[in-house]
Amino acid sequence: MSAAPVAVTVDQARCIGSGLCARTAPDALTLAPNGRATPVHPTTAPSDDLTEAAEMCPVEAIAVRNPTTGELLAPVW
Ligand code: SF4
Repeated sequence: MSAAPVAVTVDQARCIGSGLCARTAPDALTLAPNGRATPVHPTTAPSDDLTEAAEMCPVEAIAVRNPTTGELLAPVW
């Protein structure tokens, strides 16, 4: 049984375009032509790489949520 998908968002106003997340979780996050990160898909399979990317973002621009409840899954400290 596969894990339930998660919703991924990137706050474009916060993102500084470091590219860290796209290198850490290339299946889920990519750099857009405007130099800001963007989700590859609005919902995706959960993964350790995606969690790590959300936790490594230097400006906490990435949010990984339960798409049904909105619960924040990453980053969590
Ligand atoms: S790690 Fe954060 S600041 Fe860097 S590109 Fe990704 S979302 Fe933007």
